[in-house]
This record gives sequence, C-alpha cells and structure tokens, in this order.
Amino acid sequence: MRYALTGTQRCDVCGGRMTVAKGGNRQIRPVYVCYAYAHVRNDKAEADRALIGDLEADAPQLGVILAYLSAPHRIARLSQRPAVGPEEKLLRAELARLRGELEELEQAPAPKTARARIARTNDIDEMETEIAALEAKLSALAAPDPLAGILPTDPEADLVAWWKAADVQQQRAVAALLLTPELLGQVRVTRVTDSASDAVQDRLRWVTA
Ligand SMILES: [Zn+2]
Repeated sequence: MRYALTGTQRCDVCGGRMTVAKGGNRQIRPVYVCYAYAHVRNDKAEADRALIGDLEADAPQLGVILAYLSAPHRIARLSQRPAVGPEEKLLRAELARLRGELEELEQAPAPKTARARIARTNDIDEMETEIAALEAKLSALAAPDPLAGILPTDPEADLVAWWKAADVQQQRAVAALLLTPELLGQVRVTRVTDSASDAVQDRLRWVTA
C-alpha cells in the first residue's frame, strides 16, 4: 500500500523518510514512523488531517495542502507562464547576439585554405552548441509551474473532489512539490519530548528556506 505523505514527511531526529506501520501492541491505528530507526511515530489519521484535511466530513476541513491549493485563483496562477525576469532578458540578449554572429559566419565567403575552412566549421559547431544550451535554459525558465501539469485545468474545479479521485502518484507529486523548504516548508516529525505537547499538530516542525 502506498500513501501520499510517506515520502515527504521526515523524521526530525535523523532527517530520514517516514513509512506507515500499524501502531504498537494494543494500538491498531496506523502510524507514520521513522523508517530506518523508528525514532518518531505519529498517528497517521491525525497527521493526514493536519496536512491534507478531513475530507470525509459533511463540510470538509482543509489541511495545509488543500487549503493552499484552494486559495482563490491559485490554480489559475500556477498554470500561468512566469513573468520575464532579469535572467531571462540577459539570456535572450545573449542568444540574439550568438545567432547574429552565427549568421555572419555562415554568410561569409568560404576561406581559401583547408585549415581555415576546418577552423570555421569548428567555430560554427561551437556556436550552435552554445545556442542549443541557451535555448534549453530559456525553455526551462519559461516553463509553467510543474504543479500545473498535475492539478485540474479548470480553475473553478473542486479541489477536494479532485484530490479524492486522484491516484496516490498524483497526490504524492503534489505533496512533494508543495512541502519543500522553498514553498510551504518541509514537514519534520519531532519526538514527543522535543515538542510543546504530544498533539500531532505540535509535533510537526516546518522547516523553511
Ligand atoms: Zn529517524
């Protein structure tokens, strides 16, 4: 059985990943547990409620992930192409310069000696390689957010219904893209002794960049 959040939550003691296990002796509720050393364990249902939400309730309560995605216009914004930044402007200028140089080189009369012709061919090759690398960089910069490829395309879509219908692979990808130090923060599960209380909420430590 695979779960949406096993790969993205971390043990706060060793930084390792968490897996899902049945609770201790008399417990049958599944828990998230530090995979390598069993440093920490956390009630799975409660952690899921905090991070994803309580989706079976009549009025679903949104956890961190779904609350973020459900914010007005979030999906529409995610699927937009990012604005042109200074780095992109520089790359475009450099690309235009190289293309101009290449064109000049190609249109110049062929050199008379064999050696000069080989040198010219090498120059052209080098320039074409440089141009290809710049073009690759630019298309990576201009790509929409990777979340846009996973989330529903309709900005008015019901996110809770979408999440419930999504397969675990999609849910994992969304969790992994959101729960990063650069975005919402990496989720680390702390030991009870290191926490304000033993409540699941208090034991999630958010590490941000
Ligand atoms: Zn650990």
